[in-house]
Amino acid sequence: MRRFAHFIDGEVREPAGGSWLEVFDPSSGEAWAEVAAGDARDVDDAVNAAQAAFPAWSGLRNSERAAHLERLATALEARIDEFARVEARNGGKPLALARDAEIPRAVSNLRFFAHAATQFSSESHHGEAGLNYTLRQPLGVVGTISPWNLPLYLFTWKIAPALAAGNTVVAKPSEVTPATAAMFGELAREAGLPAGVLNIVHGGGPEVGESIVRHDAVQAVSFTGSTAVGRRIAGVAGPLLKKVSLELGGKNPTLVFADSDWQVHLDTLLRSAFQNSGQICLCGSRILVERATYPAFRDAFVARARSLKPGNPLDEDTHLGPLVSQAHFDKVTTAIERAREEGGRILCGGDALDRPGWFVTPTVIEGLGPDSSTNLEEIFGPVVTLQAFDDDQQALALANAGHYGLSASVWTRDLARAHRMGAGLRAGMVWINTWLQRDLRTPFGGMGQSGLGREGGLEAMRFYTAPRNVCIAT
Ligand code: NAP
Repeated sequence: MRRFAHFIDGEVREPAGGSWLEVFDPSSGEAWAEVAAGDARDVDDAVNAAQAAFPAWSGLRNSERAAHLERLATALEARIDEFARVEARNGGKPLALARDAEIPRAVSNLRFFAHAATQFSSESHHGEAGLNYTLRQPLGVVGTISPWNLPLYLFTWKIAPALAAGNTVVAKPSEVTPATAAMFGELAREAGLPAGVLNIVHGGGPEVGESIVRHDAVQAVSFTGSTAVGRRIAGVAGPLLKKVSLELGGKNPTLVFADSDWQVHLDTLLRSAFQNSGQICLCGSRILVERATYPAFRDAFVARARSLKPGNPLDEDTHLGPLVSQAHFDKVTTAIERAREEGGRILCGGDALDRPGWFVTPTVIEGLGPDSSTNLEEIFGPVVTLQAFDDDQQALALANAGHYGLSASVWTRDLARAHRMGAGLRAGMVWINTWLQRDLRTPFGGMGQSGLGREGGLEAMRFYTAPRNVCIAT
């Protein structure tokens, strides 16, 4: 059985407590590997290594740090197929998704922030009171905590800007999907990243994640995960006055207007609902459809949802893999049951597949209003609801119902309406006639219960640096 150990101070390390956790293959439900069950001792070791590495790493020229990130990107790019196979197996995601989108995006994250390191600049102010210039200095040791749904993609999205800005990192991937992060540690060593600059500690959230957040020497924490855990981290970090970035859950609306070319966009609309079995924070799980087109849209959408082929993630023709774990499968199937109890009509799906592994069929539900828990709570599975609206005002009211505010997509040919929706939706990101198109320079993050702060581009570089103003008498 394969073992994924920590990566601390440039070397692979066994857990201090000697314990290991099982890692499962979601398509069979069988354990296929073990991962280090770290604790506070491992976090201490990692933080010590990161502290020792900080002076030399932060003292490099920006272009030298950029060259290291570029080498990491090139090394990962050369092994996309291998990383994609492991990601598909560990997360239960279709191989094509891992190979053609997620691991390439991890490469782009590293490359993008290599460029950012050389392009980042700070402000100067003059003409009022002296000559002021702002230094933007790295924070020191920073912690990153990432979830299981896009494992290496989100892991690199956090560590790349942290390293580019001159920090050293202690990173915790999800214990559910630790495989590619562990492989990445070894890749970093082979690519010549100095020891201690990137440390990876595996294990449970309360044991490892919370030890990172509490550690005195960790200056900031970037977290992506559920709203419940985000709240807990905010509660721990708040009294310590620690800088945090929180990218949390969502319950994103998809607004389909009768004037849109929804028939042409049906593939994208389907992806926005079911990609990665709905386990993407940006998936649209509440589909709002203008009443005039509701019956036609519903029938076409349900027919296409039925045609999605669940299967072994490693088969090229699989559209839909299993859910990531037994615990998550239980959560999603309970949510479907609750939708039935609330009076929802299941138009398709609603069942577990009769085969090993944690498969749930694509599920479309109608007949539930904005106050139902099905429409208020994040399910994070292949489950969407349909609601009809009569006009723009009602569309906005339905879209903005609830406490989340991560993303939204709007489908219309009316440019003025598109702008009105773009301004009126309570969401950190709005797509018009598209979904999940990403320019890595744009601010990424949510409002309300979807989080605090923004990632992406200069926002991330600013998060990972402290501004200091220097004022010179003129
Ligand atoms: P999660 O349960 O909140 O876990 C996220 C990470 O936090 C994992 O590494 C987890 O470790 C760790 N963790 C758990 N308890 C902790 C604690 N007390 N202190 C510190 N760390 C702790 O989320 P998930 O189930 O992995 O991911 C799904 C959620 O992430 C969904 O809500 C989804 O919407 C959200 N998400 C948001 C975004 C975004 O950009 N806004 C992107 C992707 C996903 P273990 O896994 O080892 O327990």
